[in-house]
This record gives sequence, C-alpha cells and structure tokens, in this order.
Amino acid sequence: MSNLPKDLRDDLEKRFFIDSIKIKNCECSSDGSKKYLFVDSKENSFESVLLKMKDKKYDESGNITTSEKYTICVSTQIGCKVGCSFCLTAKGGFTRDLSAGEIVFQILAIKRDNDIPVEKRVNVVYMGMGEPLDNFENLLKAIKILSCEDGLSISPKRQTISTSGISPKITKLGEENLGVMLAISLHAVDDELRSELIPLNRAYNIKSIIEAIKKYPIDSRKRIMFEYLVIGEKNDDIKSAKKLIKLLEGIKSKVNLIYFNPYPGTEYKRPKKEDMLNFQQYLVDRGVLCTIRESKGLDISAACGQLRERSRDGIS
Ligand code: SAH
Ligand code: SF4
Repeated sequence: MSNLPKDLRDDLEKRFFIDSIKIKNCECSSDGSKKYLFVDSKENSFESVLLKMKDKKYDESGNITTSEKYTICVSTQIGCKVGCSFCLTAKGGFTRDLSAGEIVFQILAIKRDNDIPVEKRVNVVYMGMGEPLDNFENLLKAIKILSCEDGLSISPKRQTISTSGISPKITKLGEENLGVMLAISLHAVDDELRSELIPLNRAYNIKSIIEAIKKYPIDSRKRIMFEYLVIGEKNDDIKSAKKLIKLLEGIKSKVNLIYFNPYPGTEYKRPKKEDMLNFQQYLVDRGVLCTIRESKGLDISAACGQLRERSRDGIS
C-alpha cells in the first residue's frame, strides 16, 4: 500500500502482522472422520480432526430422521509442555501457544473445506495438541468468539475443554462461569501411576483435581467427563475400576474409556478388548455412566500428535 505515508507503513509493519495458517494435509478415515494438518508461516504444524456422527431424531409423525452431527477437535498449542509419557505430542516438545484467531480458524477452515453450511452448528472439543488451560487467555477468547451469536454461535455447552488437570486453572475457569463443558484426563486412580503418566500430577495431584471439580459450576443436566486412557496391564484391572468409583463419589460424572493407541517406540500396550469391556461393565453395574470411545479414525493415526509425527517422518 504505497499510497500510505512511509512512517505509517513502518509503524504498521512493526505493530501488526497478517499471517494465516494453512491446511497442509488431510487424511480421510474409512469411518468418515478426517484429520487435518495445519501449518503456520514457519512450517510449524499442528492437527485438528473432524468427526462425523449420525444424529437420529423422531419427527412429529414418529418417523426417524437422520442428520449429520459434526464435532471438531482443535489444537490449542503447537506441541505441549506437560510431557505425558504416553503421548506423541509430548515427544515433539513445545513450540508455541496458538492465538485465539488460530484456534477459531481451525473450525472455520474445516467447515469451509467440507461445505458445512455456515448456520449448521458443530460441537467443539479442545482435545487436539496442547494443554488448553496452559493457554488460558487465548482459550477464553476463542470460546467467547465461537459462542458469539452473530458469528458461529457455538454455545459454550457445545464446547468441551479436555485438560490434564491444572487444578488452579480449573478453579479459575469455573469463576469465569462461561458454561463450558469439562473433560478431565484422569487416566489413573493413584498418584504414583498418574505421576508416571502425567508428570504435572506431582504439582496437582488427584485430590486437588477432585476438589476443583466439585466447585466447578455446571448445568444441572450436564456431567463432568472423566477420560480414562486404558493401557494394557497398567491400569486395566478391576481394582482400579473399584477405586475409580470411589473417587467419583458425589460428582455428576461420565467416564469415557479410551483405548491406548500405540505408536512405534512406545513402551505401552493397547489393552485387550475383553479387559476393556470388563472394566466398563464393572462401572456400569455399579451405576456409573461409562462409554468406550469409538476408535474413530484409527486408520488415520487419530490419536493426539500422530499425524504430525507421521508427516515429519515423511510417511504422509
Ligand atoms: N492436553 C489435553 C488435551 C489434548 S490430549 C489433555 O491431555 O486432556 C487429548 C486426549 O488424547 C487426552 O485424553 C489424551 O490422553 C489422549 N491421548 C494422547 N495420546 C494418546 C494415545 N497414544 N492413545 C490414545 N489417546 C491418547
Ligand atoms: Fe499434553 Fe494432553 Fe499430550 Fe499430556 S496428553 S502431553 S497434556 S497434549
């Protein structure tokens, strides 16, 4: 814009930048989910996933109507500082926080790429790369931008933050009273194993997380989700299931069991299906709501960080 005074151009260049992230790669899974690899101008990469589900409803005449229900899983950071021992994202270290704009852009770009109508509401889960509560201000800004009724109009009730459990930040998020949903990556029922899996547990142990959750304001019809990554011969026994029930006493919760998704070089194993089902049954029989996460996109390395690693290795 050479029609602007030189001083103003210099000033603009110093204080603002026009930079956008781009889709570098996209893999489709046989179950309809799609995994996106985004890159910034410095070729730093991060991932998002589009999950498609069929939503069945009854119309006035009692006929079943089906429509597509979309959930977009977004990243909040490039890499992660938490360093969980089972997570591939952690292996790549931490590069930087994503801005609120970059978080929102993942949803815009994926909606556009799939011709999802602007007015079609999607669910958002902050379960991609990074620890959302470690990028608190940008996360808050993104939640507010996404929920704006003049924009994408994604109510906070349709947005779920998954966290490895930074207790003081859970409390701080609760104080914001946004109505956003929470998923806790619990993964273990005693501090020893949890600290091995999630080193952050040494600073914020299970007790501190449970205390923070008990204070977290949540819509009376909703539940706090507890994610439990099931690792073969590590935490897949009934003794752990029993302890889990005890821990969740007094919390309106839902447990989501996740199969550990192995990758080359990991010391951990995928659990046996039978152990997974027994674990679930034990909880269900005792009145705990418990689902097993469908391994959507297994064939496209859908667990956190796996597409990026494949891309770095030159596989994709
Ligand atoms: N940092 C946040 C959100 C991103 S991780 C958190 O930890 O909650 C999103 C989810 O992916 C977490 O529940 C995590 O446990 C899971 N995950 C990471 N590596 C995995 C793997 N190899 N197999 C299955 N799930 C994995
Ligand atoms: Fe970070 Fe979540 Fe991976 Fe742990 S599981 S390293 S918190 S992204």
